This record gives sequence, structure tokens and C-alpha cells, in this order.
Amino acid sequence: MSITTDARTSVDINDVTIFDGPGGYTGVEPTAEWADEVLALAKQRNATILAHNYQLPAIQDIAHHVGDSLALSRIAAEVDSDEIIFCGVHFMAETAKILSPDKRVMIPDERAGCSLADSITADELRAWKAEYPDAVVVSYVNTTAEVKGLTDICCTSSNAVDVVASIDPDREVLFLPDQFLGAHVKRETGRDNVYIWAGECHVHAGINGDELADQASSHPDADLFIHPECGCATSALYLAGEGAVPADKVKILSTGGMLDAARETRAKQVLVATEVGMLHQLRKAAPGVDFQAVNDRASCPYMKMITPAALLRCLREGKDEVDVAPDVAERARKSVQRMIEIGNPGSGE
Ligand code: SF4
Repeated sequence: MSITTDARTSVDINDVTIFDGPGGYTGVEPTAEWADEVLALAKQRNATILAHNYQLPAIQDIAHHVGDSLALSRIAAEVDSDEIIFCGVHFMAETAKILSPDKRVMIPDERAGCSLADSITADELRAWKAEYPDAVVVSYVNTTAEVKGLTDICCTSSNAVDVVASIDPDREVLFLPDQFLGAHVKRETGRDNVYIWAGECHVHAGINGDELADQASSHPDADLFIHPECGCATSALYLAGEGAVPADKVKILSTGGMLDAARETRAKQVLVATEVGMLHQLRKAAPGVDFQAVNDRASCPYMKMITPAALLRCLREGKDEVDVAPDVAERARKSVQRMIEIGNPGSGE
């Protein structure tokens, strides 16, 4: 192994040089040889490779299972393997570890964070709870294990409304961390005692209502698939309410819900408002439909840190392992389990 000291470091693992720079590990192309080695190493390690819908197409194609965060965490808990290689962002690998404490969980690059999960820390949540000591805390799954450990009920975008509706109407609710999903929940439940943390995902927030309105008017026959974390989710409902877009064309969906809707749509074209990696699975699910991004710059840099080089390094070196302290994991597991018991948790991001 050799490590250089310039801005980009390099690591030689056997015959391959992997570079490590600000965007993550690079230097490996997703060739057929790469695919053969990845699968052979996974077999040798008795590892299952899971890939989130926002991963690079090469990573999605090599994975044993592709899906959204909650579906993948459930698969992680069910599969009969010693190791889980979670190709996604760090909080997702943590959730897999929370639900599968006896398995070794790894992420190919532990620096793959999430701007939404980072928008509230455990200390900030403790301080917020102190202001509302009787409130029920509802957290979207895009949160760290520590924040989940301070949460009463987790939710996904599919069951966020059901989760909040299941809480005694007289109890205050602290909803975090996503302000757009929180606004959607508040509107749908009609409750005025839901307090919303002002967090956001910089990728989804960048998909705005003006862009959506432009695209909707230039593609009048297209369906609109919108993830509720998008800055445009409110605009989409507004446009539908104003009659600018037929209401039946606007579908607010989790990433898993988008795949189901893709298989069922009769539209020839669908405008998709979420991270662009989702287009790969949608096009595979319904090859006859023309899926177009509302904003083709909506690419999550953290998701894209899981490169072919990072995956190879992970499998060759057994890094980076994800650990969650047992007491935090136990508390977090309770809030995740409550989420699974209420409504249809669908699949999260
Ligand atoms: S797309 Fe947004 S919410 Fe999803 S992982 Fe990236 S930063 Fe986080």
C-alpha cells in the first residue's frame, strides 16, 4: 500500500490504485472485470450489497437489492449473510445496523453524509424538547441514530400523515427535520399544534415551484411524480388546486411509491421531481414511459460518493464499518418499530 501526500492521496490495493480526493474514492471504472471482482468478493465475505435508488447506475446494477432506505434496512435484517454493504448515505447504514445489530454493516465511504440528517443534532433536539416537554417527537427516517434515540415515533414520507394523525389531537407534536414534509403533514392533518423544524435537503429544496410550473405547462400531458421533500411539493398542490395542472396528474410519492406508480401509469411521459438517480430504476420499471427530471441538476453529491472505487475498496479492505452504541440503538429501534406499526410505512426516501 502507498499513500502520497498531495491534495489527492492514493492507495494501492493489490494491483489497483485508488485515489482519494474531496469527492471520494476514484480511479476505478465499472468494467466487467470490476463487476466480476465485486461479486466474487461479496460471495467470499458472505456479504449482501444493498443500493439506494439514488446511487450511480453502475452501483445499482451490481447490487443484490435496490430500493429505498426503509425497504433496504428490512432486507438487511432478513438476509442470511454475515455482512451488509450499504451503498447509500451514513444514516441509512446506521438504520440497517439498528435493525440488524448482529450483522457487520459497512458503507463504502463513511463520509457520505446527508444535509437533511445533519440539519438537526441530538443536542439541538434535546433543547427543543426542553421547550415542549409534553410534546410527541416525530422524526423522518433521514436522521442520525442519536436523533432517532430521542424520538418517540419515526416516519417515512409514506406514513408521516398517518403517524401524526394517530397522536392524541390535544398533544403537541414536534416534527423534524424536513420543513417541506412537515408542511405537507400539517396541511393534510389540519392540526395547528404541529411544530416544524426548519431543516431541508439541499438537493430536494433546489427543485422549486417555478421550474415545476414551467415544465408542467410545456408538457401538459405528462404525469408529475413529486417527492414530498421537494420545495415544489407545495407548489404542485397549489397548481393542482388552481386548475393549472389537473389534480389527477400530480402524485406526491415516496421513492418506492414512484416505482409502483411508474408500472401503473397510462401517461406517455412523466416529470419526476426528486434526485436524478431515481430515473434509472423508473426507466427500468416502465421502459415504454418517457421519464424526465424536473431539475436535471438535482444530484446528491453524498450519494455519488459511493463510487466503483469505493465499493471495491470496501470489499477488499472491509471498510468503513458502521457502529451504533447499543443503548442508542435500543432506543432508536423502538422509535423505528413504532413507525412500522402505524399505517403503511412504505419505503422512506
Ligand atoms: S438527496 Fe438530500 S435527503 Fe437524500 S441523502 Fe442526499 S442530501 Fe440527504
